[in-house]
This record gives sequence, C-alpha cells and structure tokens, in this order.
Amino acid sequence: MPELPEVETIKRGLSSFIVKDKIKKTTILCEKSFQGESGEIAGALIINIRRFGKALIIDLDNKNSLMIHLRMTGQLIYDGKERYAAGHPSENFVDKLPNKQTRVIFEFQNGTLYFNDQRKFGFIKVLETKEVENDPFIKKLAKEPWQIEPEELYEKLQKHQNSPIKAVILDQTVIAGLGNIYADETLFMSQIHPKTKAGKITKQQAKEIIKNAKKVMEKSIESGGSTLKDYKKADGERGDYLDKFAQVFNRQGQKCPRCGKIIEKIRVAGRGTHICPNCQKEIND
Ligand SMILES: [Zn+2]
Repeated sequence: MPELPEVETIKRGLSSFIVKDKIKKTTILCEKSFQGESGEIAGALIINIRRFGKALIIDLDNKNSLMIHLRMTGQLIYDGKERYAAGHPSENFVDKLPNKQTRVIFEFQNGTLYFNDQRKFGFIKVLETKEVENDPFIKKLAKEPWQIEPEELYEKLQKHQNSPIKAVILDQTVIAGLGNIYADETLFMSQIHPKTKAGKITKQQAKEIIKNAKKVMEKSIESGGSTLKDYKKADGERGDYLDKFAQVFNRQGQKCPRCGKIIEKIRVAGRGTHICPNCQKEIND
C-alpha cells in the first residue's frame, strides 16, 4: 500500500503531466472502481491536484473534482511523451496498457492516464469541489506531522497512555500519515523504543517524534517514492527508494548507522518492527 510520502510523490509527478490538460474521454472498465457520472468530467480541464492523507483530489474547471484512493493495489500510470507510473509497483509499470487490471482510462489531449487496480479496493469518485472537505473520509483525517503541534500530540498520547508508542503513532486518528516504515524510522531517529508506553513519552520526545517524522517523510518524497525509474532498478515488490532513506527498516542483521550494534526485528502491536537495541532502550518502569 502506498504510504503518504508516495502519494505526495504521485501528486507532484502527475501534476507535471496532466495539470492544464483536458479530459477528452473516460472509459470505465469496472463499475466498482468509478463512483459518479463520467459525463460530469467530460471536456473538463485539470486545474490542480491536491492531497488529503492518502487521497488524491484532481480539481477540474467545472466545479467538480475527482477523488482517487489507491488502497492496496491501485496504480496510476500516465502514458504520453513519456511514461510516469506510480502506486503499487508491478510489471504494469512497464507493460503494454490497458491490460486486464486496468479499471478506468482517462484520455487527455496529450496522453492517457490508466487507473489499474488488481484487487479493486481502490476507487475514483466524482464530487463537487466544494464538497471535498466535507467528504467523510477527509473529515475524519487527523493532522499530519506538518500540521500538528508537539503539545497537541503530547495531549493525544495521554489518552492512549498504556499503548505502545508505535501503535499510537500508527493510529491515523492520532496523527495522519505514518505507516509502518515511517513509524520505525521516526522512532529510531528519536531514540525511542517502540514498546515504550505512550504515557511515558515526554513533551520533548513528542517534539522529537514530529520533527523526525517530517524529516523522514520529506527525505522519502525527495527520493521520489516508488517511481518507474526505481521500479526498473528494484527487484520484486520492494522499490529501492527505501535504500535512500531507511536506516532501520528491513535492515535487521545490519549495523546500526548510529552506534554499530546489530539491528533487530521484533513485533510490536502486531507489526514487524525494526530497532537498534542499543539506541532504543525499553524504559517502561
Ligand atoms: Zn544504534
């Protein structure tokens, strides 16, 4: 599943290709993948792309917007003068399109955008631009690391004081945007053991968590998420963009870049979790 920085990367990448282009034709190959009337977007000009959490909003010049959720296996692949592919990495990135995983096709004046989704959990929805912020999905989103104040995060942690800090920062109603990779990297940078109870986190540590979450996510956005270029270099599902910023994630058995001790993989809140046992000491008593 793409995490927030990858969706931000998609937003930036796609913007350079489709903003100011016109939707000539929409072909819906799977009803489940498209909610609303395709007639409402016909002939419209793309004026902007925004992101709310992991949802992309494509604003049109006719007071409508398209909301896109990629979910588990969604992909957006643009084919024009060049190909730009983003989302769940697969052979589709370099394959001939459309194929049997293609659900929706948007034809623009300068290229074609394919929405592929193997498992069909993702979808595209047409809604009025003024209703975007009232959409139930967007309304319930918590603040992202760029928006939340340390004091506010600290207060929220007190409401989950007996839960491990990793579980709490993964909770999208507490702070939005931190998936498993970013939670591990953030806690490593903050030198906090993921099993530390949220109620034991100090105000200073809450501040560190926010600072480092922003740092690691920005690094990931800069490295381009899982783009086509990365996919070609990567073997299998794991885009090698991880290598550009991950210090502990998937690095069990390797040396900690900070102290040289061996990175371990443990389980916290049911998730595979990567730590340096020396830099991140468990303090719960
Ligand atoms: Zn270490």
